[in-house]
Order: sequence, then C-alpha cells, then structure tokens
Amino acid sequence: MTLSREEHLAIPESDLEGVSVDTLAVRAGQVRTGQLEHSDAIFPTSSFVYGSAAQAAARFAGDEPGNIYSRFTNPTVQAFEARIAAMEGGERGVATSSGMAAILSTCMALLKSGDHVICSRGVFGTTNVLFQKYLARFGVDTTFVSLTGFDEWQAAVRPETRLLFIETPSNPLCEVADMSALAALARGAGALFVVDNCFCTPVLQRPFEFGADIVIHSATKYLDGQGRCIGGVVVGPDNLMQEVYGFLRSAGPTMSPFNAWVFLKGLETLPIRMRAHCENALELATWLQRQPQVEQVFYAGLESHPQHQLASRQQSGFGGVLSFTVHGGKREAWSFIDATRMISITANLGDVKTTITHPGTTTHGRLSPEDKAAAGITDSLIRLSVGIESVEDLKTDLQRGLSALSD
Ligand SMILES: *Cc1c(COP(=O)(O)O)cnc(C)c1O
Repeated sequence: MTLSREEHLAIPESDLEGVSVDTLAVRAGQVRTGQLEHSDAIFPTSSFVYGSAAQAAARFAGDEPGNIYSRFTNPTVQAFEARIAAMEGGERGVATSSGMAAILSTCMALLKSGDHVICSRGVFGTTNVLFQKYLARFGVDTTFVSLTGFDEWQAAVRPETRLLFIETPSNPLCEVADMSALAALARGAGALFVVDNCFCTPVLQRPFEFGADIVIHSATKYLDGQGRCIGGVVVGPDNLMQEVYGFLRSAGPTMSPFNAWVFLKGLETLPIRMRAHCENALELATWLQRQPQVEQVFYAGLESHPQHQLASRQQSGFGGVLSFTVHGGKREAWSFIDATRMISITANLGDVKTTITHPGTTTHGRLSPEDKAAAGITDSLIRLSVGIESVEDLKTDLQRGLSALSD
C-alpha cells in the first residue's frame, strides 16, 4: 500500500524518453493498481484513507507523498496530467475544470495587481472577457495587439509587462504567430510567454520547442474530441506549475476523475484523429477555393495563406479549423449554413463531427463593429471545424450551401 506513484507506473518514464508523441498519447502516465488492468483505472473518490494517525499526519505535513483529497490530487487526474505533459514535452501538467479555469488559474497564480499583460486580439472570446473585464478589476491591465504585427507587440511592452498570451493559429481566420520571435521578446522583457495550443494540440505543434514558458489547453476540444466533457490543463516547468497547482488547490476549479478518464481515452486516439481532421480540412479548403460562390478561404495549409511558410515550420499539420467568406453578407452566409443538413450548426470545435458557425453573430457577436472590422470578422464569414466524416459526404453537404447561393 505504500508503493510510490513511480513504482505503480505501467511503463517507467525512462523507457518513454525519446519516443514519439503518437506513442506517448497511448502509453505515457498510466498507473496500474494491483489488478494489473490494461486500460486506465478510474478513481471516483473524494478522499483517501491512512493506515494510521501518524501516516495521516505525515501526509498532511508533506513528509510522505500520497493522496489526501481529490481537490489536491487524484490518481486518474494525475495520469491525465502526466500524459499531456509528456506529449507537450513539458515538466508538469496541472488539470483544471475547464479551459477557462486553466487560463484563470495561470493568471491568478503568476500575476499580481500592477502587472501588465499583452494578448493577441484574436483570442477565444471568453479569454478576452477574462482579461478585459475581470482581471482588470484586480489591477492587471491588458493591451490587445495583432497576432501577426510584431511591431505592435514590441511597442506594447512596458516595465510592468509580465505575460504575453497568444493562440496560434487564431480563431477563426487561421493567422499564425511567429512563436520564436515572441518568446525572445518575452524573455527580454522579463515576461512569461503563454501559448493556448488548443487548435493544434501537441500532435501538430509543440510550443515549448519554440520558446513558450507555459502551454494551455481547453481539453474540451480536440483532446476529448467527441464532445463529452469540459476540462482544461496547464503545462510548464515545475516551479511555475507548483504556483498554479497551489492556486488550484486553494480555489478549487479542479478536474473530476471521470472527466480525466474520458480525456485519457481521448488522448489515445488524438494522433490519428488530428491527421484525419487535417486531411479533410486541406481537401475542403482547396475545394472551397475553386467555388464561384466563395470569395476567400482562410486556412494556413493553402499556399496562398500569408503565413503558410511559418505555419509549415511550426506545425506538422494545418489543423481542422478553416473559415471562408461567401459573396454577399449575413443573409447569404446564413442561407449557406441553413442549407446544410448533416453538418452541425454549433459554435463548438474540435469534434469528430463537422460543425459550422457564423462567427459574426455567435462567437464574436459581442465585439463592437470596429473591433469586428479590426479582427476581420465580416458578415459573410463562415467557420468550419472539419470532422472526420468522409470528405466526399462533407462536400455533398457543403454543396447544398453553395447551391442555396446560386438560385
Ligand atoms: C474553448 C476554448 C477555450 C475555453 O475552454 P473551455 O473548456 O470552454 O473553458 C480556450 N481557448 C480556446 C482556444 C478555446 O477554443
């Protein structure tokens, strides 16, 4: 009963050094119980018992490693944290109840009143709200700049700048940031460089290789990939993750063991799913570009994309999300969306099922007309999160949308 976590690992960490992310997705982090189960066990327990009062005291004092209470640690959650950390190539993962909880916990643990943040304008809408509305109340000021405008990043740096935050590729226009350049800027400013790697996952892009200090995920998207659970994770060096963990343990937005188990299962198929998403998205982007009803397609896999070369250096695939404009405005975009019959009309992304959305009136509907214009969110813009259905069947469904515009 007193074996350490390391002694329970199904495969010792040293045996997984240097193996590919495809193998880590299936093998890293699994802890076996005495039953020698092949699939990961799930531990839906809120607390843990001790052999004696002395052992309880030793656990609480931190003299003996081990579980106390599932807001602190839980073996299923730890397995998920270890697996995603191995895949990203980071030292430690800290799982959270949602992607937003991952971002909040990072900020609460590592920022204080008076600090300054620089954030790319095209981030997930709620991330924008978190910085602009809530963190601002606690004296953390955020400047929003263009993801690709390096001059703007340089000009925004102040002596109090402590954190640079990006998503790359961006949502929904698939702009790509030069991570090495931003990492160097952050280092020079004494700030942390944080990358939300939700769109690529470690299968397609590993931001630590380009100088990121912290990688964040909404596990809700591709890591699950099948629309079942909300969750998030922060990955980074031990010293920083100890701070994030400390906040999480005190504030409480932790991941449930059941969700961790679903995400562990999700990670096992992540590499093959990501390849299928990329293949379908590239095929559809190329096909959409040839359609007369389509004005412009935004996908970093297209050679016409302004950051195609940069994306090719940073990513091993271009991802499953693309967007495009149709000739006309909101009426035409809505007609296109409403004419599809199989594709789901929903703002979620990263699912095996293809989803379609009108960013201007959903995910980015809160933005002022000026902010929309600055972010390139036009009325005729449509976003697709391409799933893993047959690409021919997806074309058939999208053709219904195109046909609605030809009448
Ligand atoms: C969805 C999303 C989030 C927020 O994640 P939740 O799990 O919904 O809290 C953060 N960043 C990106 C890029 C997202 O797509």
